[in-house]
Amino acid sequence: MTQDTRTTLRTPIVAVLGHVDHGKTSLLDKIRGSAVSEGEAGAITQHIGATDIPLETISTMAGELVDPDDFDLPGLLFIDTPGHHSFSTLRARGGALADIAVLVVDVNDGFQPQTEEAIDILRRTGTPFVVAANKADTTPGWNPQEGEPIQRSLAAQSDRAESMLNENLYEIIGQLSDVGFSADLYWRVQDFQKNIGVVPVSAMTAEGIPDLLTVLMGLSQRFMREEMAIDVHGPGEGTVLEVKDERGFGATVDAVIYDGVLRNGDTVVIGGQNEPIVTEVRALLRPRPLAEIRTEKKFEKVAEVTAAAGVKIAAPDLDDAMAGAPIRVVRDRPVEDVVAEVKAELAEIEVETAEDG
Ligand code: GDP
Repeated sequence: MTQDTRTTLRTPIVAVLGHVDHGKTSLLDKIRGSAVSEGEAGAITQHIGATDIPLETISTMAGELVDPDDFDLPGLLFIDTPGHHSFSTLRARGGALADIAVLVVDVNDGFQPQTEEAIDILRRTGTPFVVAANKADTTPGWNPQEGEPIQRSLAAQSDRAESMLNENLYEIIGQLSDVGFSADLYWRVQDFQKNIGVVPVSAMTAEGIPDLLTVLMGLSQRFMREEMAIDVHGPGEGTVLEVKDERGFGATVDAVIYDGVLRNGDTVVIGGQNEPIVTEVRALLRPRPLAEIRTEKKFEKVAEVTAAAGVKIAAPDLDDAMAGAPIRVVRDRPVEDVVAEVKAELAEIEVETAEDG
């Protein structure tokens, strides 16, 4: 097989971050919910710690905003990052695990301490991002247009409501400029490499969500495409999101695989509290589809997962595994080499954590 036929484009990994209560969870839930209800176009796959929204679904949700022929990336994988601390510990080969990020800012509250912290992390990791100016629906006199692109929604607002929203949006654009980022409403941005796009959204009414998905897809396609070319059959590489005890499985690891393939039965090296853990995958688990949730078992077993994907790994000796640590499949090379690689990466993480104080 030639390199060309082995290589494919993986799904870009998207993280959502921002100040507490600005709507990260609601936004993710809404994106997931809207995608599920558009599901007939290209059902979303359930993942552990992540949601995969295929291009087909995005294009149905975004309507006239997206022409699927403009894209060859398969969609977007949103990872659940409950706090900004988890974002800073989530790395991949020394860089950020997320390829791209959504910074959620409450349109009424503007920048808050954790917004500033999130900006610092995004700057330090060089992660491209868009700003979701959330809770647009709380603008006094707002006339909600469920699920509509934001410009259509704006056309349905009174002049007064529109200008009140604009005032708040320009406040946020000013705050971005104060911290060194030139920004504008996304439809005015010509060059997304120079300017940050601000997308007014509502996690309550889903207004602007078509726009947000479109901008993320466009940014990924234009600036990430090269990095998304992976050898799908290569040894899997991933990052631990969380270590969890699971009935019937003992300690398990929730992980995001960002490169290659991870198969049931693979020997893997996972970063641990003391030494890297060398173990063998006993089961790869995904949540059951919603329709089957009534059955006793929460998970279904899969034979393999290909990047990018969230998955729960069951294997012996995972008690000491560490959130943020690397996962490497051992295939076609000596296990000692992989252990050394994992050790080196862990040392790098420790240095950076120490520098962060
Ligand atoms: P997180 O801490 O950033 O994850 O914020 P949450 O998603 O938990 O949201 C905090 C609160 O704001 C909750 O009460 C949400 O219902 C509310 N909220 C979030 N997004 C919106 C929105 O777009 N419009 C309105 N009206 N309320 C929202």
